[in-house]
Amino acid sequence: MSEDTRTQVQDTNKQIMPEYTPIQEVIDNIPYAVMTLLGMVIFITAFSESSWGIIAGFAYLLYGIAGAVWIMIFVCPYCRYWDTRSCPCGYGRIASRFRKKSRVECFSDKFKRHIPVIVPLWFIPLLAGLPAVVGRFSWLLLILLIIFAIDAFVILPLVSTKHGCKECPQKDSCPWMKHKIKPAAQNA
Ligand code: SF4
Repeated sequence: MSEDTRTQVQDTNKQIMPEYTPIQEVIDNIPYAVMTLLGMVIFITAFSESSWGIIAGFAYLLYGIAGAVWIMIFVCPYCRYWDTRSCPCGYGRIASRFRKKSRVECFSDKFKRHIPVIVPLWFIPLLAGLPAVVGRFSWLLLILLIIFAIDAFVILPLVSTKHGCKECPQKDSCPWMKHKIKPAAQNA
């Protein structure tokens, strides 16, 4: 993200933090939205001969939406960027409508405790779709699974680490970024 497309603010721990525009927040949300929608389509396609496919597809979509809300309620209130434009995806400002700010020192613990709630979103469509594509081969389903895997395991982590997390002063205490910056630091 270029410096000229965003303003900068002083963070509480005296680091300069970017402020994200609404467009940048939307861009940050695209990979997760694509993953959720693709997951739904995979269920519907994999079980197209049964109405259970549609039910499972919409259940997955609801799970994806509920997972985002879960993070807003149980993680974002502990984040420095709660109710600021320095949250790259905009969750922090939405979270302020649900809950008041809480202790930033608990961020790492809350992150570790609540992220597992949404982790199955990355795997359930693959676990449902792969047996179906093996059982009765379908190019459509195979292509959907490949696009899903690229989005969920390549694009989404890339966007979050390169877009917002890279500049985040909390990255040392963030269980997600800690693993990504340590090897780099060791290699330096
Ligand atoms: S940076 Fe992450 S944890 Fe912090 S408010 Fe935004 S979405 Fe929530």
